[in-house]
Amino acid sequence: MAVTINGKEIAEDVVSKVKLSAAKLIEGTGITPGIAVVIVGEDPASQVYVASKGKKARECGFHSEQHTLPAETSEEDLVTLVEKLNADPLIHGILVQLPLPKHIDSGRIIQTISPDKDVDGFHFINVGKLGTGELDTAFVPCTPAGSMLLIDRVLGRDLSGLNAVVVGRSNIVGKPMFNLLLAHNATVTIAHSKTKDLAALCRTADILVAAVGRPQMIKADWVKPGATIIDVGINRIPAPERGEGKTRLVGDVDFADAATVAAAVTPVPGGVGPMTIAMLMANTLVAAYRSAGKTPPR
Ligand code: NDP
Repeated sequence: MAVTINGKEIAEDVVSKVKLSAAKLIEGTGITPGIAVVIVGEDPASQVYVASKGKKARECGFHSEQHTLPAETSEEDLVTLVEKLNADPLIHGILVQLPLPKHIDSGRIIQTISPDKDVDGFHFINVGKLGTGELDTAFVPCTPAGSMLLIDRVLGRDLSGLNAVVVGRSNIVGKPMFNLLLAHNATVTIAHSKTKDLAALCRTADILVAAVGRPQMIKADWVKPGATIIDVGINRIPAPERGEGKTRLVGDVDFADAATVAAAVTPVPGGVGPMTIAMLMANTLVAAYRSAGKTPPR
């Protein structure tokens, strides 16, 4: 039976280190790491995410600002706010919560964020740095960065000789995950909806990362014995056993089934999810250290 990779515990460890390093920076330079989270509209899921980011930032001892704008905010007004935050010395990290309302071009907004404050790692400069292996100066998107740290805890930093398969090719998870695994010497294949015989491909993976958005798609017979599985998926499914109309969260991996074959698996919830927010804090800390001309802690 596989080991369950405890993302919650590892995320708490990351956050406690961030807290210590933030205190050191404040004591040594008087600079308090600052994060601004911008939300446009009233999407309830986004509201929850934004509130939890603010709470975690305060727990880390950061200066935290939330800018809540009405759904009808114009693209120009949002650009103006981002430019103001780019110039604000109290702010080291800027996060614009996605998705934005349809009338706003998210691409333009993301490219307006200063690459030095782009703690989500979505600006072309940071995407390019990750793609060219400039990891020391890039901001890496939080979910893949957190997933990588979980892999690191199980297998170590050097993945030489290991085959990795990433299922999903989105810009926010699949592609950066591919680049990170490659940077750590894994031999990486990226799969997507047009991939032929996905199950057979997944069975070649010593490291299997699922970022698809299909509940419990990956079963035991897709898994190589002894594999490490990182389940990024978050899917809500009906849970009539909990009562009428109740739901529960599951990943893209059938955890109980896959765990009979794999060596280590992340649960959902409690795996990659908590790591995402922890890495946002870590990225903001790094941004603050860089702005102070100091080498960020590793
Ligand atoms: P996207 O919808 O942007 O991408 C999904 C990817 O999966 C696409 O590349 C798509 O292929 C591929 N895909 C879809 N169906 C299949 C299939 N049947 N077989 C193989 N590949 C398939 O999703 P995201 O990357 O944004 O998110 C993926 C999952 O991760 C979601 O469940 C999301 O909720 C979760 N997530 C979790 C986070 C966390 O903090 N834990 C953070 C971000 C996301 P194609 O490109 O060909 O369409």
